[in-house]
Amino acid sequence: MLRLTELKLPLDHTDADLRAALLARLGLAAADLRGFSVFRRGYDARKRGHIQLVYTLDVDTPRETELLARFAADHHVGSTPDTTYKAVGHAPAGGLPERPLVIGFGPCGLFAALILAEAGLRPIVLERGKAVRERTKDTWDLWRKRNLHPESNVQFGEGGAGTFSDGKLYSQVKDPKHYGRKVLTEFVAAGAPEEIIYVSKPHIGTFRLVTMIQQMREKIIALGGEIRFSQHVTDLLRENGAVTGVVLENGERLASRHVVLAVGHSARDTFEMLHARGVYIEAKPFSIGFRIEHPQSLIDQCRFGPQAGHPVLGAADYKLVHHCRNGRSVYSFCMCPGGTVVAATSEPGRVVTNGMSQYSRNERNANAAIVVGITSADFPGDAQANPLAGIALQRELESRAFELGGGNYDAPGQLVGDFLAGKPSTAFGNVQPSYKPGVHLTDLASALPDYAIEAIREALPAFDKQIRGFAMKDAVLTGVETRTSSPIRIKRDDSSYQSLNTRGLYPAGEGAGYAGGILSAAIDGIEVAEAVILDMLAAPRATTHAQEA
Ligand SMILES: Cc1cc2nc3c(=O)[nH]c(=O)nc-3n(C[C@H](O)[C@H](O)[C@H](O)COP(=O)(O)OP(=O)(O)OC[C@H]3O[C@@H](n4cnc5c(N)ncnc54)[C@H](O)[C@@H]3O)c2cc1C
Repeated sequence: MLRLTELKLPLDHTDADLRAALLARLGLAAADLRGFSVFRRGYDARKRGHIQLVYTLDVDTPRETELLARFAADHHVGSTPDTTYKAVGHAPAGGLPERPLVIGFGPCGLFAALILAEAGLRPIVLERGKAVRERTKDTWDLWRKRNLHPESNVQFGEGGAGTFSDGKLYSQVKDPKHYGRKVLTEFVAAGAPEEIIYVSKPHIGTFRLVTMIQQMREKIIALGGEIRFSQHVTDLLRENGAVTGVVLENGERLASRHVVLAVGHSARDTFEMLHARGVYIEAKPFSIGFRIEHPQSLIDQCRFGPQAGHPVLGAADYKLVHHCRNGRSVYSFCMCPGGTVVAATSEPGRVVTNGMSQYSRNERNANAAIVVGITSADFPGDAQANPLAGIALQRELESRAFELGGGNYDAPGQLVGDFLAGKPSTAFGNVQPSYKPGVHLTDLASALPDYAIEAIREALPAFDKQIRGFAMKDAVLTGVETRTSSPIRIKRDDSSYQSLNTRGLYPAGEGAGYAGGILSAAIDGIEVAEAVILDMLAAPRATTHAQEA
């Protein structure tokens, strides 16, 4: 196969136009084209009146060798790399006596379990939350009726934190082994739209994610894996610096010398337990801020001009950064075009915001987190002595948001005009916020530390220069955004992927500080599973069947 990049066509082109452009670009006769497929499709919106689609194509032609020689100096023409996933090993017939444990069934745990199951290692997944259908009901119970289920909510349960999300599937992690392709291919096999394989900024949306996760669970089970819900891991068994198993909340003990820890960034009680057990943990920077909502039409108009609303482009997104005079950086994060702001707490008496969309992205508002980067120097106390200090700060801000919101899970909110003028809001303007169960208008100045408020007040007018109307007075801020990434890193060895001081424990995904989104968490799950496979196949240990220890 030959790969051709940067082939540009107008938005309204036909399949025949694409084929013709490809033939013309390579100087090929139609008879010499056996076929082609789209590897990637993005768009170039730098000129708003003239937005073009940009293709990367894989071309099947008998004249490949000749073309590669002819275009040797053209860096847009080359050989297609092999992106198919290759397993690192498989258990011998009859399997191994030991079964690896995977704690957490978010994207990281899900892909770790899938790869382990494909290798014949029959993983046991322990997930504290419920199966996704029941979890959906529990999550809506908070959004509709203010009833929080601490073990079954936006953060906890089958599918993990990204289940009720926009399902954005892009990441900036290095992926030399093309694991991202394996993730997207599995998602498509489980029911995701095929286009996620090739569009430059794929997303799935909440509704489809729920169905896909059930499909993937069935696949793991069919391969010999076991998935247990409402199984909260509350303790770790260690001997001579190595993990020997885990303890569940109901007292059950499971033995294994290979434990993948994929618990996500909200498993604060689990982090406390690991710290108490002496597992090496460091404090890690994260970000804090608010969600902002604008009319989606404002963002579309600014990004796409006369082509706003074009079905191929869909709802527009944005990505903004501002470096402030006080040394802080403010940036937009987890932007959800045509979506809603959601209540994302997992702890009673706390309020946290986040965002989600359906595949159609056709809700009235655009939302994004506007956050300020913070480091361990901003955490209360000595973060060197207490690596969990960032969690204390998160909890303090989330409790304050709960109080500012009226103490009933409403989010505290303020109009951007009032926030910039430093006065409380009393009535909504043109933008109706989407957060459920509701938004309580107030003054957000006390919701975050002064340096963060100062930085966001400076950044919003600066963003308005890039997206005119971004600082419109009626745009709504709701708070707080505190769970942008994990406040800790459970450090692991670069080559064995095992904890620095607990052999057999494989910290993985977002909670361990090794991922920052659905795709990167899934990729990390694959990498860690491969490390487990290599270790188990190299040294099968005799007596560690994962069952009652
Ligand atoms: C509302 C929302 C929207 C988001 N939108 C996007 C998006 O559009 N795109 C994107 O890339 N990212 C998005 N994210 C972030 C993304 O969801 C996370 O980065 C990703 O889910 C991390 O995957 P993970 O598997 O590492 O952890 P998680 O998904 O957090 O999964 C961890 C799992 O471990 C379980 N667990 C925790 N402790 C224990 C224990 N002690 N015992 C047993 N089980 C335990 C939890 O119940 C949970 O199911 C969003 C997050 C939220 C909350």
